[in-house]
Amino acid sequence: MNNVIEQDGKYIAGTYARFPVEIVRGKGSYLYDGEGKQYIDMGTGIAVNTFGMCDDAWVEAVEKQLSAFAHTSNLYYTAPCVELAKMLCERTGMKKVFFSNSGAEANECAIKAARKYAAEKKGKEYTTIVTLKNSFHGRTLTTLSATGQEHYHELYQPLTPGFEHVDPNGGCYELEAMAAHVKIAGIMIECVQGEGGVNALDAEFVQYLAAFCKKHDIVLIVDEVQTGNGRSGQLYSYMNFGISPDVVTTAKGLGGGLPLGATMLGEKVQSVFGFGDHGSTFGGNPVACAGAVSILSRIDEALLNGVRERSELIFSTLQGAEGVVSVSGMGLMIGIETEKPAKEVLNACMEKGVLVLTAKNKVRLLPALNIPMDALKQALDVIKDACKVN
Ligand SMILES: *Cc1c(COP(=O)(O)O)cnc(C)c1O
Repeated sequence: MNNVIEQDGKYIAGTYARFPVEIVRGKGSYLYDGEGKQYIDMGTGIAVNTFGMCDDAWVEAVEKQLSAFAHTSNLYYTAPCVELAKMLCERTGMKKVFFSNSGAEANECAIKAARKYAAEKKGKEYTTIVTLKNSFHGRTLTTLSATGQEHYHELYQPLTPGFEHVDPNGGCYELEAMAAHVKIAGIMIECVQGEGGVNALDAEFVQYLAAFCKKHDIVLIVDEVQTGNGRSGQLYSYMNFGISPDVVTTAKGLGGGLPLGATMLGEKVQSVFGFGDHGSTFGGNPVACAGAVSILSRIDEALLNGVRERSELIFSTLQGAEGVVSVSGMGLMIGIETEKPAKEVLNACMEKGVLVLTAKNKVRLLPALNIPMDALKQALDVIKDACKVN
């Protein structure tokens, strides 16, 4: 057996059901395994490698910062994180940014911001954070509590208290009923639920939530960890819904391949944190931030047009194809409900040199935002074929 696979089984904690592929290198949307087999990458390390692997401009920006200095502490000023924060604020209208290293940490910070805002503004009993059923917000105990999927909770009791989950379909009625007796600090949503099966929320529901938050002075948090940084066809997915959140969290694709989380604070909560209220040793790491500046500066209108164009091609190719029940999602975040089990489709694709993902019962696609059209067409041919019921 491949030595890496064998040793991994022996020494790595068994949390991941890995596929029997060892990735050894990659360029753009093409990856290569230890035997030299080429794959078209339709997963980008779960929406992380925004411009594919070893994107030239990103590598250059990272290397430049790496040879200047890789890390100091947050006790000193450094330019890359400031440049990135300024860019994020200018492009979203948000006012301040707190940097961390992952999506879960970005959400932890958002939850702290909502609770502190509510405690100071409305009273210490306003602690509840409402999230949606079928949501995914991370793996730390608190973000797990926020995650509205029971099966993640079972063996980790007691979870962090103060979370309620409402159904995205019919949540309006649940919330109205709650408003009378639950002291709500914040509401956190993904505009397109990723891990939950790539389902976009109804625009009407999202707008209802935004109005509800405004009416009750509740902090509206949009988790853009997966949907953000161009993936939805807009810079952030909330921009497709005509709302202005109070807090936006992101991670995954922002770093373009290095760990980076960001919590953006809007007008209402911009001053919620003072000295010592929150912190992170690695947060705002100069190398990660220098790479992110390179990524974010290239997510412009032309790039977003390309995302929408690729999205349309995927929808038009797969909708109504043999063995395809439905296609969901937005931009380059796509869920395919298939007649065959999703795992079978994934395995057939892998065999033919295309790496796809799954989410719940669906095949999931998260390709690079700049995947070349010919690579995308080639991958779609393979996927379409793999969906056919023989
Ligand atoms: C992946 C994901 C997270 C968790 O991010 P990590 O970097 O793995 O901590 C949180 N929210 C959403 C919507 C995600 O897709």
